[in-house]
Amino acid sequence: MNASWDVAVIGAGVGGLATAALLARKGKRVIVCEALDACGGRARNQNVAGYTLPNGAISYAPTGALAKVCEEVGAQFSIQELEKNYFWLRGGEGFVPIPRRGTILKAFEILSQVKHKDSVKVSAGIAAQMSMEKIGAAFKKRRPLSEKDEQLSFRDWLLRYTEDPDLLALFHSITSTISQVNDYEYPARHWFAHTSEAVADGRFNAHALVEGGFQGLCEALADVVTIHGGAVQLSTPVSRVEVRDGRATGLWVRAPDGESLITADVVVSNAGPIGTLELVGDEAFGNSYADQIRARVRPTPIAVTFLISDEPLMDAAGMAMFAGLRRVVCGLPVTLLSKEAMAEGKQVIALYGTPKSCLHAMDQEEERQANIDDAHAIFPDMAAKGGRILEVQLRDIDDPDVVARSWPGYETPVTTSIPNLFNVGDGCAPVGYVASPAAAKSAMLAVEAIESMARA
Ligand SMILES: Cc1cc2nc3c(=O)[nH]c(=O)nc-3n(C[C@H](O)[C@H](O)[C@H](O)COP(=O)(O)OP(=O)(O)OC[C@H]3O[C@@H](n4cnc5c(N)ncnc54)[C@H](O)[C@@H]3O)c2cc1C
Repeated sequence: MNASWDVAVIGAGVGGLATAALLARKGKRVIVCEALDACGGRARNQNVAGYTLPNGAISYAPTGALAKVCEEVGAQFSIQELEKNYFWLRGGEGFVPIPRRGTILKAFEILSQVKHKDSVKVSAGIAAQMSMEKIGAAFKKRRPLSEKDEQLSFRDWLLRYTEDPDLLALFHSITSTISQVNDYEYPARHWFAHTSEAVADGRFNAHALVEGGFQGLCEALADVVTIHGGAVQLSTPVSRVEVRDGRATGLWVRAPDGESLITADVVVSNAGPIGTLELVGDEAFGNSYADQIRARVRPTPIAVTFLISDEPLMDAAGMAMFAGLRRVVCGLPVTLLSKEAMAEGKQVIALYGTPKSCLHAMDQEEERQANIDDAHAIFPDMAAKGGRILEVQLRDIDDPDVVARSWPGYETPVTTSIPNLFNVGDGCAPVGYVASPAAAKSAMLAVEAIESMARA
């Protein structure tokens, strides 16, 4: 194994592998060192009670940054586009299909369909309609929000226009689904910046599934690296980034026979902005860089509930957004990912819940119970259909498998105060990007920065 490389990447998550594949395609000699024994990072597969299920990402944005990277490098994998999304409101009419490319304003129409089509509720329907119109007009005419509006949450902003509980529930659900943060904790200014960019980039509501899951997609990126002369070393944890005279010079990796140094001209870290600080040591960054990063980053917790049943609980073959529940905001039958391998004729559903607070540590028992209650509220016939809860996974803010390394609006740049050390991953994307497209976008930006450094 060549111990000296153009670029050494820490981590085989979406961001690390996207960076490595882009650089390898451009002729760079790249090595990726991954601590785990599989590619994919948080988006790898996991084994739950004998079933192969996604640990993280399921929904693939076919028009987003990750799709662009995969196309550019020629990564080989299959997707199936989901024709429809669904909306479910507590007390509503079950799963209602929504157009795949609906906008937020379209969501208002859906709410009327789901909740107020019954003539007995006509007056409630008219009141909600008026609130929707007020919010719609306020969206268009709103004044720009700045840093001094940091304390104004998106919920505070909404309450200026409506107190309708269904509308508030709808927006809670939209916010948690697209930003993974509670609307009552998320500053309104970031909500508007994030959603307008996401809509502008055509990613809002476009979903596909990757056959076999995101781990397969990441393996396809790893293949691109190796085909172009690079290496992807699994089960190879990096213990330290070597820094000399203000430049990163390589990675110390732990192997069964001891530590060894892999030297490289450039180091890219997919370990997350805080993980990178720990691998390098705060003092090596100089000035207040480390303090600034620690103050900025806000990891995003999530609860994942897997259900299994003998008969399908959910006929809706697509992503569903849930409103009016305690925690659950979205979900889908994961059996769609691979009908044969996943669950041997049974249906497995994943539900995703946003904890009561995205800022503070969870009360684990309360969160578990709230997610279980929600599962029963959505599927009251669960027991009759041979259904049961397979597992509730609570990923608190300090969990390595959080849903995002930082809230949208609190990301860190790909560049660091060490000129040849870069961060990639979903904590390092510009406004409007979240999740796996954010990780891919950070890879594109890091590659641009590496190329411009080489030209300088
Ligand atoms: C429950 C859940 C559901 C999600 N659903 C979706 C979805 O539907 N769609 C979507 O797009 N996104 C979704 N996401 C988010 C998506 O999974 C992440 O945004 C994406 O996987 C993050 O990729 P990343 O590049 O930031 O790196 P990570 O996945 O964080 O990968 C980093 C890698 O670096 C490795 N590493 C860290 N430190 C070291 C070290 N010292 N040495 C060696 N290796 C190291 C880690 O082991 C890991 O493999 C979901 C996430 C979760 C948790």
